[in-house]
Amino acid sequence: MQLLFLGTGAGMPSKQRNTTATVLKLLDERGTFWMFDCGEATQHQILHTTLKPRKLEKLFITHLHGDHIYGLPGLLGSRSFLGGDEPLTIYGPAGIKAWIEVTLATSKTHIKYALNIEEIEEGIIFEDDQFIVEAKFLEHVIPCFGYKVTQKALPPELLIEKTDALDVPRGPLLRQLKEGYDVELADGRIVKSSEVTGEPKDGFQVTILGDTKFCESSILLSKRSDIVVHEGTFDQETAELAGLYGHSTIIDAANVCKEAEAKHLIVNHISARFMPSDIKNMIAQVAHYEFPIYVAEDFAEYDWSNGLLKKIPRE
Ligand SMILES: [Zn+2]
Ligand SMILES: [Zn+2]
Repeated sequence: MQLLFLGTGAGMPSKQRNTTATVLKLLDERGTFWMFDCGEATQHQILHTTLKPRKLEKLFITHLHGDHIYGLPGLLGSRSFLGGDEPLTIYGPAGIKAWIEVTLATSKTHIKYALNIEEIEEGIIFEDDQFIVEAKFLEHVIPCFGYKVTQKALPPELLIEKTDALDVPRGPLLRQLKEGYDVELADGRIVKSSEVTGEPKDGFQVTILGDTKFCESSILLSKRSDIVVHEGTFDQETAELAGLYGHSTIIDAANVCKEAEAKHLIVNHISARFMPSDIKNMIAQVAHYEFPIYVAEDFAEYDWSNGLLKKIPRE
């Protein structure tokens, strides 16, 4: 899994940061990617990456402010034009369906794939054999969701050197062993699944929050997540503005993470008032927290594997 930040700015695009769009790359897990919010010009940002719009499988909208949705109509149209024919599901708060349908209808944008738009409530909004997605209302100036993505435990790995040592023939018996069944070999010996498989591996848990002030819901949703993506529109010196506009400071974000006992924090949705040279100062304000904290810039990408989060160096 990788997290790719296409836009990390707040309110309006700036030269440094486009408006919000966060990609959860699940190419290894399911051959697709999911997106959280789609600020204006997100499809322009995609052009600078290796993402293929036809592989966009799910889009989660946190709230209906323009800096989170103005990129939708263009991206939805291009996805069709670029040959995307797999269904796409959009999840979001009440109002998202009408807004998309009116925009597409009045601009005569014809979409050739099945577009499902689900206006959601709090709770589990999606589940299959791999993933669970849970939504929870946060505290912003309009209704705004946070989303938690939980990957289910991965089946234990089949240890092929062990099956070879026991002379288990390659073929269907291996699949049965991998799926947890004990098998009988042609010579009558019984091979136990537990003898030839590794430990089951926990999946990851990543919580991607929308615009919000510091609130209990963020903590509850983020509980023990491996990664929390939290807005940090402001910093210590501008904390008053955060309170005024229903936003957070980077310190609020760190406190949510700490109280939730989460393992890593990535901060996005940074006000345009902060120049790249100010980011050091922002990070210094949260240097004393005991977990790693990153401030994402546009196109920053983080890889999650074997329980470790690593920033992928940009070419
Ligand atoms: Zn915003
Ligand atoms: Zn907002």
